[in-house]
Amino acid sequence: MSSKQGFFYTITALHPEVTGSCLLVTVHYPDGNIMMFIVDCGLFQEKPYKQLNSQTLPFTSSKIAFALITHNHADHNGRLPILMKEGFKGKIYTTATTKRHMQFSLLDDYKIMLSNAKEKKQKPWYSEEDIYQVMEHTECCALEETVYVNPNVKVTFLDNGHLLGAASIFVQISCYGEDDLNILFTGDYKPTTIWKEIRQIPEWIRELPKTIVTESTYGYMDSNEVEYHFESDIQKILSQGKSITIFVFAQGRTQEVLYVLKTMQAGGRLSKKIPIYLDGKLAQINTKMYQISEEIDEDKRDFIPENFTLVNKENRQNVISETKQKIILTTSGMADHGPACIYVPEFVSRKDMAFYFSGYVSKDSFANKIMNPKDGKITIKGKDYDVNVDVYSTSEFSSHAKADEMIAKLKEAGNVQLVLINHGQKESQQIFAQKIINAEFTKRVEILSEHSAVVGKFGLIKIMGSKIYSINKPKEDNSTEKYKKEGRIPVRKRFNNYFVCKSR
Ligand SMILES: [Zn+2]
Ligand SMILES: [Zn+2]
Repeated sequence: MSSKQGFFYTITALHPEVTGSCLLVTVHYPDGNIMMFIVDCGLFQEKPYKQLNSQTLPFTSSKIAFALITHNHADHNGRLPILMKEGFKGKIYTTATTKRHMQFSLLDDYKIMLSNAKEKKQKPWYSEEDIYQVMEHTECCALEETVYVNPNVKVTFLDNGHLLGAASIFVQISCYGEDDLNILFTGDYKPTTIWKEIRQIPEWIRELPKTIVTESTYGYMDSNEVEYHFESDIQKILSQGKSITIFVFAQGRTQEVLYVLKTMQAGGRLSKKIPIYLDGKLAQINTKMYQISEEIDEDKRDFIPENFTLVNKENRQNVISETKQKIILTTSGMADHGPACIYVPEFVSRKDMAFYFSGYVSKDSFANKIMNPKDGKITIKGKDYDVNVDVYSTSEFSSHAKADEMIAKLKEAGNVQLVLINHGQKESQQIFAQKIINAEFTKRVEILSEHSAVVGKFGLIKIMGSKIYSINKPKEDNSTEKYKKEGRIPVRKRFNNYFVCKSR
């Protein structure tokens, strides 16, 4: 088959590592026609990629036939308003739950973007009207229901425990007289969630030959390496007579932490006398939506602990000056925006307070500066503060599958011709590739980031370099150090016989 005349597609990861998730698929038909679609359209949230957010998207938006959105995280849908602004005319497909949460998240992102733009004296990248256009163009797909999004393309959204509303997406691309080309996008994936049972991939999908585009966030570690200590940390801190500020993400983490605190209360492991506060408007909206979500098992919807109060600017000062022991949940998860900006300077120098980071803390984040203060001090808006709080963190709430769980999912998908790895830090992607090779369920594994894969009915045709962005990552921003610190085997040693693509 000549790559000029056959029926095939090219897939390019427009994100080099974890954030700014966006996959571009260009389908080539035998008559020379092409059709393009994207999977996710996310914001870059990590330095040094952040500077890319204000740039135009690396494709002609008006030529994109449709967009598929896996879930409501800003690094997967935050640039949809820019897609609209640039002239996208197609439909955006996602689940009803994602659509419901997305409108509030996009408006929240918009406020952050506006205030950052103002601070840097830049022009806003998009308007509120672009967000309304996103919502108007968004159609909902029910899980396991196959929908024609184009005369030649069917999509089926599949269950996924990463976040409420999250989905993996199965895409079938047809052409008269040719075999279908099938792609399963895992999206950010987790096989379990506290909210409901995650359904397996339907039998009819397992039988079809397919390429899988998989995430690899935790491709470097297995599930038995996760340490669970949140509950015992909370008990320890409280037994020392200290209060706790828990930094949470507005959707998912907030509600999970509340669920755990309620379970602790019910089991007598947390005193109901200690008040629990939740600050952050978007977190409160999402919490209310979870309480009535039909997607959540009915017995789980009542996850609000006792002695619980919502905080806003009216009662915030009382909560801060309250001298009794308390637990405060506040956005944002990395303490860099939202009401966390008020709590951190208030509490960071106090000895009767502990800070708890409930999620991933990236190296360049404000949270990391609090965890590793220079000479015991941190600078906030030009003022120095002594860091006297105890700082804790855990990865046990992580909403991503570990390597073994992800491989189990890939095997479950059945009839895998090719695995394309994306969405992970470089070394994580490499380690995960080796683990997939060792698992021996597919003939071919490739790392997609910064590459384009050309795929036909027999699988991979070729892989090409495709450096979309010319960003040089600073050398010190290397995850190997992190893995080493965590006592993992140095990457290079594990990687003697690693291959990405023999043809390269
Ligand atoms: Zn996500
Ligand atoms: Zn992600």
